[in-house]
Amino acid sequence: MHVLKCTSCDLLLHEIPLAPKHNAYCPQCGSPVIHRKFFSFSAEWALSLAALALFFPAQYFALLSINLLGVNLTTTVTSGSLTLMSSYPFVGGLVLFCTTVTPLLFILSIIACNLALSLKRPKMLFFSTSVIEKVKHWVMVDIFLVSLAVACFKIQEYAIITFTPALISFVFLQIILGALLSHVSAKNYWEAYRPSHFHLPQKIATPLNQILTCEHCGLTQERDRQHCVRCNAKLEYRAFQSIQKTWASLITALIFLFPANLYSISVLISNGKKMEDTIFSGVASLIKEDMYGIAIIIFTASIIVPVAKIVSLFYLLICIHLKIKTRKKERMRLYRFVRWIGKWSMMDLCVIAIMVSLIERGNLLDFTPGPGAIAFGLVVIFTMISAESLDSRLIWDKNE
Ligand SMILES: [Zn+2]
Ligand SMILES: [Zn+2]
Repeated sequence: MHVLKCTSCDLLLHEIPLAPKHNAYCPQCGSPVIHRKFFSFSAEWALSLAALALFFPAQYFALLSINLLGVNLTTTVTSGSLTLMSSYPFVGGLVLFCTTVTPLLFILSIIACNLALSLKRPKMLFFSTSVIEKVKHWVMVDIFLVSLAVACFKIQEYAIITFTPALISFVFLQIILGALLSHVSAKNYWEAYRPSHFHLPQKIATPLNQILTCEHCGLTQERDRQHCVRCNAKLEYRAFQSIQKTWASLITALIFLFPANLYSISVLISNGKKMEDTIFSGVASLIKEDMYGIAIIIFTASIIVPVAKIVSLFYLLICIHLKIKTRKKERMRLYRFVRWIGKWSMMDLCVIAIMVSLIERGNLLDFTPGPGAIAFGLVVIFTMISAESLDSRLIWDKNE
């Protein structure tokens, strides 16, 4: 009998044979339990090599240029974050990490996974699949692209904008990364891992309540060992100190939410006049200038998303503590939504990085981040860590 446990809610399932490329979803929590490979390994090779080829022109050539006070200025993906790093190393480093470091790590890890499979190297496969699972939530090329559009709308009142061919390679890079991000999973690589000495256990002798499905590679096995028999990942009945880690990062995020909103996030100097904006006053001035679309985008990404994330995670944790038995399916949907939406809060910081690289004309016109940007960066990081630390199986625990 081939059984497996849903790694999101721990429901015991009897595996149903499926046609190739069909997915199966858990009837209790709705999470995918069998995620069939969408791209063949050769297609994945081609896509990851294409992404790597596009990565360098997309990162190092100017995406757009502006004519500001008679001077031509350009911006690349990295120029804003590198300029920011000289005055605000944390904010600059965070933008650089999410828009340059993680996309490159993600592409290289896919190539390494495919190499490890062909060479039958389990340690290399474990390392590269672990990197994929860790970095994929932090790949924010899509957010940078939207931020670029927002920055263009903001800058158009000061300067004429011209787009360059490198922007096209950046858009293609985003399309390929988007396709890879939604279809690449560690479990698929391990499903394909078949060295001659390794045989999948055909039958599990222990009672069904004593089995566990490895979260990393998806292999079902007996619960009596510390590490997975196939991938060597640590086997955990529930993630270690999940609730404590979630609470700690959530409370930290809540504390930083106040300075993030009370202190100025950006400072614009125009003709010697200094204009400091908090997130909220920035949105208000966008409304005053009739830029309603951008005002709504910034308001949603910078105010609604972080607050909604914090409130939702508080609600999920309280329900776990109070052992509330009803509406678990809705709470699971909320948990998945919180994990998906989290990275969009980074948009304001990406917009600041782009603006910093473009508007730097001394006392006539200058743009710098304010101290609120550091606090806001910390809110983004800690809310994301908090959502990642919460083990969703705790939502479903019966606690009789
Ligand atoms: Zn489930
Ligand atoms: Zn495993």
